[in-house]
Amino acid sequence: LVYDVFVRPVIVGDFACVTVAFEDKTEVQEAGHMRRDFVANVSHELRTPLTAVLGFIETLLGPAADDTAARTRFLEIMDREAKRMNRIVGDLLSLSRVEAERRVRPTDRVDISALLRSVVLTLHPVARARNVTLTLEGVEGVEEVPGDFDQLTQVFTNLIENAIKYGGAGKEVHICLTSHAVEPTMRSQAVRVDVSDQGDGIASQHIPRLTERFYRVDSHRSREMGGTGLGLAIVKHILNRHRGRLRIESHTGRGSCFSVILPYQ
Ligand code: ADP
Repeated sequence: LVYDVFVRPVIVGDFACVTVAFEDKTEVQEAGHMRRDFVANVSHELRTPLTAVLGFIETLLGPAADDTAARTRFLEIMDREAKRMNRIVGDLLSLSRVEAERRVRPTDRVDISALLRSVVLTLHPVARARNVTLTLEGVEGVEEVPGDFDQLTQVFTNLIENAIKYGGAGKEVHICLTSHAVEPTMRSQAVRVDVSDQGDGIASQHIPRLTERFYRVDSHRSREMGGTGLGLAIVKHILNRHRGRLRIESHTGRGSCFSVILPYQ
C-alpha cells in the first residue's frame, strides 16, 4: 500500500493540534508501474527483430555484399522479422483500440453460427498447412447475441489460430457451439463456444497469467510460431467489453479447451 500523508497544524480553541490526512496512492503507483513495464516489454519485443534486421543489413552491405546465396537467406530472415514487427504493431493497435473503448453493451446482434463458419473457412488454409483438421459442431438454431461482429471475429480467430499453432501438427481442433447453457456465474442465458485442441496442454500455474500482455509459456515456441504474446490479452479485453468470459481448462499431455461464454442479454 502506498499513501501520501499530509500533516497540518490547527488551533482549536486553546489547543494546538495537528490533522493528519492519508491519500491512498496505491492504484496510481500500480498504474505507473504497469505503464513502465508495458513500455519496457514493447521496446524489448520490437528491439529483438529490429536488431536482427539491422545486423543482416550491415552484413549485406559489408562482408556478404557479393555472396548471392547468403543474400537470399538473409533477406528471407529479414522478411520474417519485419513481418513479426508488423504483427506486433498491428496487435498493439488492436489492443489499444479495445482498451480505449468504454465497457458498454454492444447494440448490434451477431449471428455466432455464421461468424464461426466464416472464421473456420478463413483459417482452413492455415490448418491445412499444419495438417490440422478443423471441425465445427452445433451451429444450428442458435440465437443472435449482442456484440461487435469484427471484435468477436478477432476473438475466435485468435483462439482457433492458437489451437492450430499449439495443438500439434496432424491433430484435430474441435469447435463446439452450445446454446442456452445457463451460466451460473452470469445468472443469465448464454452461448458458449469451446475451442479444444489435442496439444501438450498448459501447466496449471501458467493459466491465470495467459491473458497478460506478452505472457508466454514458452517464448521461443511462440516466436517460432509467429506469435506476438498479445492474442489472449486482446481476447480478454474484447470479452470484458461484451460482458463475456473466457474459461481455460487444460491437462498437460491431453490438450486444452478455451471456452468463450457470451450472455444473450
Ligand atoms: P502468442 O502470440 O504467443 O500465441 P497469446 O496471447 O495468443 O500469444 O497466448 C499466450 C500464450 O499462451 C502462448 O504463448 C502459449 O504459450 C499459450 N497458449 C495459448 N493458447 C494455447 C493452446 N491452445 N495450447 C497451449 N498453449 C497455449
